[in-house]
Amino acid sequence: MICWSTIETVCPMCGCPLYVREVGGCDILGQDTDLLIRTRAPHVIRIEVHSCPDCRFSGYSSDFLEGRISELTIETYFREYIEKLGDDCEMAGPSADPPTRLQYFWSGLLSPLLGHPARETGLRMLRAYWSLRLDPVPDLDDSGLKNLEQRYLRQAIAYLRKSLRQEKNPVYLYLVGELCRRKGNWMHSQNYFNRFLARSTRPRHLRNAASRLIKRARRRDCRHMSMERLLYPTRDQSKTIDGREEEKGA
Ligand SMILES: [Zn+2]
Repeated sequence: MICWSTIETVCPMCGCPLYVREVGGCDILGQDTDLLIRTRAPHVIRIEVHSCPDCRFSGYSSDFLEGRISELTIETYFREYIEKLGDDCEMAGPSADPPTRLQYFWSGLLSPLLGHPARETGLRMLRAYWSLRLDPVPDLDDSGLKNLEQRYLRQAIAYLRKSLRQEKNPVYLYLVGELCRRKGNWMHSQNYFNRFLARSTRPRHLRNAASRLIKRARRRDCRHMSMERLLYPTRDQSKTIDGREEEKGA
C-alpha cells in the first residue's frame, strides 16, 4: 500500500503556492528488464513528481521544499528553460495537469540547473521513459510513441553513461546495457552487459538476465520484456499484470 503526506509549499521559481506529496511504501508485483518495479496502482513514481501550475517548474517534493535556489538560478530558469517546457506543453494538449512523462522530462531538463549530478538527471529521464508504459498516451500513434520513447531513452542513456565514470554500483552497468539494447545500440549494449558481468557477482538474477539479454542484443532484438518472462520463459505469465504488454516493442 502506498502512503503519502501532503505538504503545503511554494514554487521556488515563481512563488506560486502548491501542495506536494512525500511518498513511502508500495506493494511490489514484479519487475521489467529495465528495472521498472511493477506495483499496485497508482504506481509510486506517478505521484512522486510535481509541477508548478503557474511556471511548470517540475521535480520531487525535495526540489520544492529545500528553498535554497539562488536568484541567479531563478533568472536563468525564466530566461533559458521556461520556453523549452512550453513547447512540450503544447504537444501534450491543453489539459490542466501535465502528464507524468512530461513532468519527469521537465524535471530532468531542470536537474542540471539545480546542480543535481548526472545520475539523478539520467534517472529522471528514465522515469519519463517508464511513464510511457505506466500511462499510455491515447492520442499518439505508434510512430509518435516510438519517437517519444527514443527521445527519453536517448537522454537517460546520455546522462547515465556520463555518471558511470564515478559510479561504484555495477547495477548501473546492467541498466545502461539494457537501455542501450532497447534503443538499438547493439555494440554498446553488449559492452555494458559484459562489463557488468565482469564486475559483479550479484545479484544473481541480474547476472542471468544480462547473459540472456546479451544474446538478444546480438540478434538485434530490442523488444520490451518483463524480468519474469526473460528468466522463466516457460512459466505461466497469465497472472502477471503486464503479460498483455509483452513483446510489443520497447
Ligand atoms: Zn512556479
